Amino acid sequence: MLEKIESLELEHWKTSLDSKTIMWIEFCHKGKSTNTLSSSVMKELDILVSFIEKEVLNKNKKICAGIIFFSNQPSGFCAGADVKEFTDIAKKSEWAQASLEIVTKGWLLYERIEKISRRLPTVAKVKGFCFGGGFEFALACKFIVAVDHDSTSFSLPEVKLGIYPGWGGIKRLPQRVGIFQGMSLMLSGKFLNARKAFKAGIADVLVPERTADLACERLIKQNPKKRDLSFFNQVLAGPLKRLVCIIIKNNIKKRVKERHYPAPFGILDLWKYHNGNPTVETQIHNRIVGSPTAKNLLRVYQLQENLKGLAKKYTKGSDGQVPPTLNHIHVIGAGTMGGDIAIWCVLKGLKVTLQDVSTSQIAKILKKAPLEVKRKFGNKYKQMKLCDMLIPDPSGHGIKKADVIIEAATENLKIKQEIFAKIEKDALPTALLCSNTSSIKIEEIAKGLKDTSRLVGVHFFNPVLRMPLVEIIKSKNCDQNFFDLAVNFTGKIKKLPLPVKSSPGFLVNAVLMPYLLSAMRTVDNGISPEDIDSAMVNWGMPMGPIELVDTVGLDVCLAVGNTMTNDDPTPICLKDLNQKDHLGKKSNRGFYKWEKGKKVKERKLKLNDDEQRNLAENLIQPLINRTAELVTEGIVESEEMADAGVIFGTGFAPFLGGPINFSKNNKIESL
Ligand code: NAD
Repeated sequence: MLEKIESLELEHWKTSLDSKTIMWIEFCHKGKSTNTLSSSVMKELDILVSFIEKEVLNKNKKICAGIIFFSNQPSGFCAGADVKEFTDIAKKSEWAQASLEIVTKGWLLYERIEKISRRLPTVAKVKGFCFGGGFEFALACKFIVAVDHDSTSFSLPEVKLGIYPGWGGIKRLPQRVGIFQGMSLMLSGKFLNARKAFKAGIADVLVPERTADLACERLIKQNPKKRDLSFFNQVLAGPLKRLVCIIIKNNIKKRVKERHYPAPFGILDLWKYHNGNPTVETQIHNRIVGSPTAKNLLRVYQLQENLKGLAKKYTKGSDGQVPPTLNHIHVIGAGTMGGDIAIWCVLKGLKVTLQDVSTSQIAKILKKAPLEVKRKFGNKYKQMKLCDMLIPDPSGHGIKKADVIIEAATENLKIKQEIFAKIEKDALPTALLCSNTSSIKIEEIAKGLKDTSRLVGVHFFNPVLRMPLVEIIKSKNCDQNFFDLAVNFTGKIKKLPLPVKSSPGFLVNAVLMPYLLSAMRTVDNGISPEDIDSAMVNWGMPMGPIELVDTVGLDVCLAVGNTMTNDDPTPICLKDLNQKDHLGKKSNRGFYKWEKGKKVKERKLKLNDDEQRNLAENLIQPLINRTAELVTEGIVESEEMADAGVIFGTGFAPFLGGPINFSKNNKIESL
C-alpha cells in the first residue's frame, strides 16, 4: 500500500505504516515553517482522502488499524487557512463567489474525513497551534489528543477576520462541547491552551509529549465509543434550539451591531438553520463575506501581520551584525506606565530590574505582578519562576548589565535628561536606551547624553497590558542600528512596532487630540457629552471621545492639547473643569461623575439616530484629516501603516479598516 501512496508524490503530507498497521500521516507544509491549509495543501489532502477511501476503507480491514495525523513543525499542528491567499482573493470583485467555492471544497472534504472516521479510528495529535481550518480538521477526526505543552493552543478565530468557520467547525465544535460553550468560543475567537481545551471537552486526552504517541496508539487499538454530549446539551441543541438562539443573539447584540459586524449573527444563523453547512444556500455566506466588514477586517489582519513582519525583518542590524540578545530589561519609573511595562516584559519571560525614586511605587508593582502572572498562567511552577524574574532595584544596579533600558519616569525634561546622563556612564555600550515620553521631543531628552544617537523613543500605550501598539520614534540623529534593535525588541515582547518620525504627538496622539478637542468644542456649543459619546459609539468607536477625555485626565488633555494645537482655541469646558479640579475619572469628577471607576447616572439622549450620525461624521473628520496630513508629511511611512497605527493605538473602529481606508471608501451613508 505504501508504494501506492508514494506514487501519489505528495509534497506536504508524509505517510508511513507501522508494524501495528497504524498509518501515521505527517503534515509538513513544504518550504514553510508553519503549516497552513493553502490551496495546494488542500488539493493534496483531497488526493490523500480519495486514496484512503479507495485503497484503505474498501479493502481488507486488516490493512490499516487506524490513522494518526500529526505535525513536527516547531510552530505546531496547523495555523489554519492561508489568510494571504484569502486576502488576495478579497481584493477581487467576485470575492464572495470565489470564497464560497473555497468554503464548499473544504466543507465537503472534511465531511469525507468525518465519514472515514466513522469506519476507521482517526486521531489528531495536536502540539502547538491548532487554529481555524486546522482545528476544524482535528474536529473531523474521531479523537483529539492534546499535548500538554505551553505552545498548544486551540482556536476558531475566523470571526475576528469578519468571516466564519466554514469547514465544519460550526457543526462539530458544539457537538463536542455543547452549544453555549461552542458558540462562545466561535463568537469570541478565544484561544484555549491544552489544559483548558481538555477541560472544555475539545481534546479527548491530555498527555505529556513523551507519552503522546502511545496515547494515540491506545485510542486506535481500543477505539472507544465517541463521548456523547450531556443530556442537557442535547436538549439545548434539540427541542430548545429556538430559545437558545434567542438568548445567544441577545448576547451578541449587547456587544456588537449587526450592521457593523455581521459575522457573529451569521455564524449563529448557520448553526440554527443549516447545522453549520454553508453550502445549502448562499444568502448567509454573502451576508457575512460580501460585507465591507469582512474585506476591511481581513485587511486589518494583514496590516497587523505587516507590523509583526517589521520586527522579524530587523533580526540583523543595518551593519549586518546579529543584534545582542535582549534578555535583561531595566525599567526606570514604576508608575502607571513603567510598572506595567515591567510586568509585561516579565510575562514575556524576560528578566526585569525595576527602579524608582519611590520604593512604595516599586512595592505596588511587586504586589500587582503575581496577580497578572496568575491571570495569564495556571501553572504554579511557571508563576513562581516568572515572579522571581521581577527584581526591585531602587539604586539602579541593573543599569550596568541590562540589554534594554526603558525610561518611564515623570514627564519632565530635566528629570529625563539627568536620568540618561547617569545611564550613559554605567550602561553597556551595546545597551538599547529608550524613553517612553509622550510629548517631549526625543532630540531634547537626548541632549542629556554625550552620544545623542543612542536614544530611541519607545512609546507604549495605556493600559500597557491591553494595548498592542508601540510607536518607535526615530529622532533626527538616531543610530539606525539602535532604531532597528528597538523594533526588534518590540516584536520580541509581542507588541506591534510602528516606526514614526519625531514630531509632536507622534502619530496616535497627534490624530487623537484634534478629535478630542473637536468633541469638547461641541460640548461648548451645547451638545451633551452623553449625545456625543453615544453618537461615536453607535458609529463604531469602542468608547466615546468625552469619556476618553475623562479616562485620560483633563489635566493631561489640556497640557497635550496646548503643545499640539497652537492656533486653535482651547475648549472652554476643558479650561473650566480644570480650574475646578474636575480632572476626570481619577478625581471622580470630569464631564461625568465617577464612583469606584464607573460612570454614574447619565442624562437622557436628545439627538435622534440621524442627528447622531451627522454629528459622528463631523466629529471624526479632524482625526481622518490629521492622519492623512501625517502621511503626507512623512511622519508615518505609508497609508497602510497609518491605518494600522490608528486602529491599534486608538481602537478606531476596525470594521472600517482605518481612517484612510474609510475616507477612501467613504461608506458613511451605508453605516
Ligand atoms: P507616573 O507619574 O505614574 O509615574 C512616574 C514614576 O516615575 C513615578 O513612580 C515616580 O516616582 C518616578 N520617578 C520620577 N523621577 C524619577 C527618577 N529620577 N528616577 C526614577 N524614578 C523616577 O507617570 P506615567 O503615567 O507612568 O508616565 C511615565 C512616562 O510615560 C511619561 O514620560 C509619560 O509621558 C509617558 N506616558 C504616559 C502615558 C499615560 O497614559 N500615563 C502613556 C504613554 C506614555
